[in-house]
Amino acid sequence: MSRLIYEMHCHTPLCRHADGTPPRYAEAAERRGLAGIVFTCHNPMPDSYGHSGRMREAEVDEYVRIVGDTRRRFDGQVDVRLGLECDYFPGYEDYIAETLARMELHHVLGSVHPFLAIWRRRFQIEDDPLQTQRNYFDQIAASAESGMFDTISHPDLVKNMTANDWDFERLIPDVEKCLDRIAATGCAMELNTSGLLKTIPEFNPNQTMLELMCQRDIPVVVGADAHVPERVSADFERAYDAMQSAGYTRVSYFLDRTRHELDLNEARASLIPADSTV
Ligand SMILES: [Zn+2]
Ligand SMILES: [Zn+2]
Repeated sequence: MSRLIYEMHCHTPLCRHADGTPPRYAEAAERRGLAGIVFTCHNPMPDSYGHSGRMREAEVDEYVRIVGDTRRRFDGQVDVRLGLECDYFPGYEDYIAETLARMELHHVLGSVHPFLAIWRRRFQIEDDPLQTQRNYFDQIAASAESGMFDTISHPDLVKNMTANDWDFERLIPDVEKCLDRIAATGCAMELNTSGLLKTIPEFNPNQTMLELMCQRDIPVVVGADAHVPERVSADFERAYDAMQSAGYTRVSYFLDRTRHELDLNEARASLIPADSTV
C-alpha cells in the first residue's frame, strides 16, 4: 500500500507544552503508514502574548533547524515539512505576517485560542457565555478573512471553555454566518482529533458543524494536534468516518501552502492500524 497521508498538525518541545523530539514524531508517522508529517508549532508573539505556550522570536531559527535536520534524517522514509500554528488576534496581523515571511512554510494554521488571558480580557463577556461563544465564531471568521492562513484550526474550541453553557443548536445561526464568511475566503478548516481528549470529548468541530461545512464545500484538513509522538495521526480513521457521514468524499492537505486532495477511502486504506504499531 502506498503512503498517502500527512499529519498536518503537530508540535515540538519549543512550545513548552509538548514532549518528544521531532524525530520521534517522524518515526510515529512512519509506523502509521503516513507519507509525511508537517510540524506546526506555536508561533512567537510579542508583548508576552501567551508566552508560556509558544516559542520565542529568538527560537525561530532553532525551530527551522530542528525540523530541517529531521527532514534530512528521514529522507526517503517520511516526508518531513515545516509549518506553523499561528494565533490570530486583531492588531497582531503585521507581526504575524513578518514571522511568516521569515520561513519557507508548507502549512499555516490560523488559531483562535479562547483560553488565553488576552483573549478573555477582550472577548469573554462576564455572565454571558452565549455572547462569548458568538465572539469566538466571529473571530474565527475574521482569522480566515485576514488572508494569512491556509487552514482554520479546531474551529469550535470555545465549547471547552464554556462547557456548562454549550448548546450548539442555539448557536447555529451564528455558526452558519461564520461558515459563510469562511467559505467566501476559500480557506480550509481543520477536523482536529485531539478534541476527544478535552472537556467535551468530541472532535473540533462537532458532527453538525462538519455537516454545515460540507454544505458550503469548505475543504477539510485532518490533524491530530499531537503534543506527544504517540498521538501522531491518532483517530484519523474515525475522522474519515465522520467526514463521510457529513457528506465529504475527499480530505485535503497542504504542501508548499498549496492544497491537495485525497479520496477518503484510499486515505483510510493506506493507514497502518494504530494497534499494530505498538
Ligand atoms: Zn491550537
Ligand atoms: Zn496545536
